Amino acid sequence: MNATAVGSFHNHPGYCDGSGSIEAYAEAALAAGLRSLGLSSHAPVPFPCSWTMPPQRLPSYCADVRAAQAAYRDRLRLWLGLELDYLSPALIPEGAAFQRQQIRSCRPEYLVMSVHFVGRDPSGLPWTMDESAESFARQLDEVYHGDARRLVEEYYRLVVEMASTAPAWGVPVIAGHIDKIKMWNVGGRYFAEDAPWYLAALEEALRAIRAAGLVVEVNTAGLRRGVGEPYPGLRALHRCKALGIPLTISSDAHRPEDLIAGFDEAAALLRELGYREIVTLGDNGWVWCPLP
Ligand SMILES: [Zn+2]
Ligand SMILES: [Zn+2]
Repeated sequence: MNATAVGSFHNHPGYCDGSGSIEAYAEAALAAGLRSLGLSSHAPVPFPCSWTMPPQRLPSYCADVRAAQAAYRDRLRLWLGLELDYLSPALIPEGAAFQRQQIRSCRPEYLVMSVHFVGRDPSGLPWTMDESAESFARQLDEVYHGDARRLVEEYYRLVVEMASTAPAWGVPVIAGHIDKIKMWNVGGRYFAEDAPWYLAALEEALRAIRAAGLVVEVNTAGLRRGVGEPYPGLRALHRCKALGIPLTISSDAHRPEDLIAGFDEAAALLRELGYREIVTLGDNGWVWCPLP
């Protein structure tokens, strides 16, 4: 694939639940013909969490990315990023102050902002919506009493809030896997993704994303993990086109081998939808480039 002009901006080296060294990602990028590579380890959160970076690891992550930036300067533009969770003040009151302090110390060049935490689990801890099928089923049953609509609408409400807070970080922001709440809904198991209430919730999220000037990623993890389409799916990508929301393609790699997994498929899908260009990071923000 000719990926020269595009970049890959949602990748997890081995500082959170990802694996592989920064150098291994850089080498994978060069082998794939990329000229731009963004690293986005899961930013620390102010409560115990198995898949985010521990707060004490953040300084070495930032230092290691900066060292790699210098080492690869002539061959590859490396970007220091973070996948930053949206921590709703209603759910995690200390979240915003904690994240401000982390961002001040790390000074990332861009962010992937995502919603993973939706309400509390039955034990009172922030609940991760993409943890497992069992966890989703239990949460739906015990906390939402089987009302999938309420859970899904809560998720999209958080995406709207996330978008409205994103510009305050002062760096380019990618809205991460915006419809990931459908992850456990293969075959419409819990809700209909063409139901008017679902489309309305999605539309509100997209309009908030556009109003905030964010970029939406076409996250190919959905293609790898049995969902059958990327995050977001076709319907949402249609709406992104109509609303003029710029896109990037990301694989959400948790190992270097997956760096451009699904890029060809995603590009073909976008071409079918009428896209001819996506965006990539430049020194002054997003710039358009031809689809790979
Ligand atoms: Zn994520
Ligand atoms: Zn991720």
